[in-house]
Amino acid sequence: MSKKKGRFAPSPTGRMHLGNVVAALLSWVSAKRDGGSWLLRIEDLDPQRSRYEYARQIEDDLSRLGLDWDEGGLDGIGQAGPYVQSMRGEFYEEALRRLDSQGLLYGCTCTRADILATQAPHQSDGRVVYSGRCRPAAEPPFASVLEPASAAASATGEAGEGSDPLTAGRRPALRVAVGDEDIRFVDRYAGECVYNLRRDCGDFIVRRSDGAWAYQLAVVVDDALMGVTEVVRGEDLLLSTAQQIHLYRLLGYEPPEFAHFPLITNADGQRLSKRDRAESLESLFARYTPREIIGMAAYRAGLIPEPMPVGPGEVLGFRF
Ligand SMILES: [Zn+2]
Repeated sequence: MSKKKGRFAPSPTGRMHLGNVVAALLSWVSAKRDGGSWLLRIEDLDPQRSRYEYARQIEDDLSRLGLDWDEGGLDGIGQAGPYVQSMRGEFYEEALRRLDSQGLLYGCTCTRADILATQAPHQSDGRVVYSGRCRPAAEPPFASVLEPASAAASATGEAGEGSDPLTAGRRPALRVAVGDEDIRFVDRYAGECVYNLRRDCGDFIVRRSDGAWAYQLAVVVDDALMGVTEVVRGEDLLLSTAQQIHLYRLLGYEPPEFAHFPLITNADGQRLSKRDRAESLESLFARYTPREIIGMAAYRAGLIPEPMPVGPGEVLGFRF
């Protein structure tokens, strides 16, 4: 029997807030309760917003709160490293080649305005569904987008005369085709979930036009190669999970178990964000001890019956 392995995968784009502590604590408790291990991965794929100092700060904050990781982190404890996404391009490249060899990728040159103008009209909740504007007319398998010949052709096209000035010098984003089929999974909190990716998001991006790796691809490759057995995260990522299950299947990996907890909200009933300064760890550490902060997070997560100073290990003892 393989041991349970949970993970926490923050983006180093600012100081953590209480919602991040809840996420870390829930995944830590879930893994540790069954004698499993906990991994820390730094998701710094966004080069504009990610900062090394923030990653270091996240590690300091977790350590101070007693949320110790057994594997991962900036120093890369363990065999499946590196545990920093910006250092893992070769693994994502390999996965991209496998998708391409199945004829499931195509280039997309749409701007955000193009996507909004052509998306299906029934999406009113702010979610953007890609219409398939750049999808080849024939069904997959599509022609390779990565073979040297086509790469050379597109390089010539970019430099050559008569190329569209709006797209010159810009590589197309790469999208993976989705089928018109239901993706079902049972979530520990949300229960049975059903998504149809064609209806709910359309063909989605696996590599951005600026060359950055898309979150969905990187997360699947990392969780699979790192041997993660359960993913505990906020319910805002349920649709992402359906997209990720699609990639797990295409890449031949076994999906982990999923647990998407309800997001905690601020006093106005809105989802906590980095803008809620009163709930940021900077502000919380100025007013509370680490045990009091863990107690608040544990109470908000429904792990203990009332707020009280506790360490993460003591939270394991509560069952109510
Ligand atoms: Zn497009």
